Amino acid sequence: MNQDLSQTIAAISTAMTESGIGIVRMSGEKAFAIADKIYKSKNGKKLLSQQKSHTIHYGYIVDGEDTIDEVLVMLMRGPHSYTGEDTVEVNCHGGILVVKKVLETVIKYGARPAQPGEFTKRAFLNGKMDLSQAEAVIDIIQSKNEYALKSSVSQLKGNIKSKINEIRSEILYHTAFIETALDDPEHISVDGYGDKLKVIVDKHLNEIEKLLASADDGRIIKEGINTVILGKPNAGKSSLLNVLVGEERAIVTDVAGTTRDVIQETINLQGISLNIMDTAGIRSTEDIVEKIGVDKAIHHAKEADLIIYVIDASTNLDENDDKILKIIEEKKTIILLNKSDLDMMIRKEDIEHILPGKAFVPIIEISARSKKGILEFEDTLKEMFYKGDLSFNNEIYITNVRQKTALQDAYESLIRVKESIENGMPEDFYSIDLMDAYEFLGSITGETVGEDLIDEIFSKFCMGK
Ligand code: GDP
Repeated sequence: MNQDLSQTIAAISTAMTESGIGIVRMSGEKAFAIADKIYKSKNGKKLLSQQKSHTIHYGYIVDGEDTIDEVLVMLMRGPHSYTGEDTVEVNCHGGILVVKKVLETVIKYGARPAQPGEFTKRAFLNGKMDLSQAEAVIDIIQSKNEYALKSSVSQLKGNIKSKINEIRSEILYHTAFIETALDDPEHISVDGYGDKLKVIVDKHLNEIEKLLASADDGRIIKEGINTVILGKPNAGKSSLLNVLVGEERAIVTDVAGTTRDVIQETINLQGISLNIMDTAGIRSTEDIVEKIGVDKAIHHAKEADLIIYVIDASTNLDENDDKILKIIEEKKTIILLNKSDLDMMIRKEDIEHILPGKAFVPIIEISARSKKGILEFEDTLKEMFYKGDLSFNNEIYITNVRQKTALQDAYESLIRVKESIENGMPEDFYSIDLMDAYEFLGSITGETVGEDLIDEIFSKFCMGK
């Protein structure tokens, strides 16, 4: 990617569909000069370059004698802008052609088309945000549920950046101390320093462990809970999915074994994303096609974050339920006693009785037909995964695989530091591993990453961001 910050870049920042307004954004040294050339105020006398920062101006975009559109132009002078550079945003009418024409005009007068993510990349290169914040920007745009959005906004505010910087500055201090002491052994002694350092390394290992532990929740927040609905044919799995999805997506039928393959739906329940797989009913079957579906169900169940086990409470349990109980033994499960609108043959107590020593499994009576119990199910789900409402003020959730890998690498380096201390190795041994940890952590904030990785990260952004 072209890294030359002296060039002025431009792009359409709104979606390319017909809409109320469309925004063409320009950033760089020449942004105001270009704006002067293509902007005409109502009386024709106003020069945008002479206006105050953070002001909006009514007028026209012109190309010589040609008037292209009636617009509002917003001015932001660097460094007080998103990119840290002089920025001009042209709000024009939101037609695909007119927005394109405005972009063509700014390019004709000296801007160059921006690459995807290049505005945010400039914000990063100009020190307006660190890499974890830049990654939060794309996560905000791509958020699929309320919690993912909250987590990304909190990351954008800099919560990961400050935690990482805090650990890094302490590591740097100690590395510098060791290096100085080794250079000047007559004046600075490192006697007993290992023990002191070990306490600090332990503290940071603990902090990184906590961050790593948050990554599993982070994945669930960002990507959703991978959920499998299990149950015998006709238990009401498809009906339940339909109720949750709110539309007739899955095939619901009276004939046992019709849901043959796996249907997946991502749904949002009270701000949580559930990636639900509706599977073939579990039972011994001669039908080959159905058998494939059953095997898939078992396979997916083993991988899932959550199993929803639907039981037709109007009939008795049989050996097929024993099979399902076996599958769910090791998994987070919610049991739903469905068809509670009919005469119930099975009650909560009956199930509690036969659960094989599982710690706690919520059992809820529902009716996919009358929708009874669905709200209780949703509340239980929320409680199970998020312990009520998540707060994003202090807690950090690592939702990014790149950041998680860097944390793991830093963790391992610090473990090596600890081992060197415990084995009584010379100080220069652990200063190398300390520096490694420092570098790995720096890759999270972007201080120690190469151009290639930066380009790769920003290329995932959308155009105009
Ligand atoms: P699946 O094979 O587990 O997916 O079951 P379906 O969702 O296809 O449902 C099987 C049959 O049970 C259909 O006739 C549904 O209308 C019926 N059914 C599902 N849920 C309920 C319920 O809560 N109450 C009653 N009375 N019938 C239900």
